[in-house]
Amino acid sequence: MATSKLCDPVNLHRWAGLKGITLVGTGDFTHGGWRRELRENLVEAEPGFYRLRKEHQPEIPDQPDARFVISGEISSIYKKNGRTRKVHNLILLPSLEAADALSAKLESLGMNLHSDGRPILGLDSYRLFQMTLDVCPEAIFIPAHIWTPHFSVFGSNSGFDLIEECYEDLTPCISALETGLSSDPAMNWQWSALDRFRLISNSDAHNPQNLGREATVFEAELSYQGLRKALQGDATDRLAGTVEFFPEEGKYHYDGHRNCGISFTPEQTAQHNGLCPVCGKKVTVGVFNRITALADRPLGFQPEGAQPFQRLIPLKEIIGDVYNVGVNTRKVDTVYWALLREFGPELVILRDTDIERLTQFDSAIGMAISRLRNGQVSIIPGYDGQYGVISVISEEERKQFRIK
Ligand SMILES: [Zn+2]
Ligand SMILES: [Zn+2]
Repeated sequence: MATSKLCDPVNLHRWAGLKGITLVGTGDFTHGGWRRELRENLVEAEPGFYRLRKEHQPEIPDQPDARFVISGEISSIYKKNGRTRKVHNLILLPSLEAADALSAKLESLGMNLHSDGRPILGLDSYRLFQMTLDVCPEAIFIPAHIWTPHFSVFGSNSGFDLIEECYEDLTPCISALETGLSSDPAMNWQWSALDRFRLISNSDAHNPQNLGREATVFEAELSYQGLRKALQGDATDRLAGTVEFFPEEGKYHYDGHRNCGISFTPEQTAQHNGLCPVCGKKVTVGVFNRITALADRPLGFQPEGAQPFQRLIPLKEIIGDVYNVGVNTRKVDTVYWALLREFGPELVILRDTDIERLTQFDSAIGMAISRLRNGQVSIIPGYDGQYGVISVISEEERKQFRIK
């Protein structure tokens, strides 16, 4: 459901390589049909990591041979302390056998795992965490996109104000939090309660082409144990930072009503007493507002030992912006594949390729990527499910580059 038909192991592997990603989550491990497909296509490589079987390997030279880790997200909807809670949690496992066992455990309780790859369960997050550790003590349990208004541990609509209220005595077993597309580490640094957690970012892809729009950088052994230690804060196998969306580009940065065309800053929401001036109902309170409400430090505060991060824009969006055309146009495709053939994986182009070489290849794209790396972008923030709109080039500059 809500996922591209291209989301199969071969295409996930192919796109991970094109993006420059070493490790990709399988997603959806609770689904029996998907586990069958994973078994048909994957074999264990390093302990706890999988690779595509040789016969399914595409013939693309010089591409990283991406590994898979067994992952899945579970949506829990339940009542706790008098309120309805809706929380998404991410679970990583060291094997398909562990995925079989946890799925069997959930099904034995009458949970329906068949209708959706991300099942919706009437199961308390705390109970889910307990059961996960019972079945697999090495499981990695991560609260997903922690600020999303409707479905997350701190969400404004159905989340908690304290992480301990959700996970109780298991809270110390959580070592990492997923910040989600609408927030970045700098926003999270405003709240001291989060200081002890590693902040990670994942692409929430739904389509293999969206892989790597956010990512986590590891300097660690390529194995499940290496990953686990890095997430626990180990100094040798370490988490080296994240690649982020501009948080304003996320779907829930500001407050508002998409259908009413109302986008509010937190101040504007306060001025309107939290109500939409068009329909009179409560506006959807976005991530920026929610973090500000829980924060105990100003934006800009940097805690000691804070991990570095870099804000990026997907290359196709940059090309579409530069050439003033939609992302799904032939023009964007042509320039995109030309750049990938010339300079290698997308994340390398966005982060590392020499600007002069890019400029020689395409002067407008070179300028745009240079601006991106310097954070010189203009953004109309997203709100209530509407993605933000980001731009690196002005109408005037397009004329100078003779772009219509
Ligand atoms: Zn989710
Ligand atoms: Zn409204």
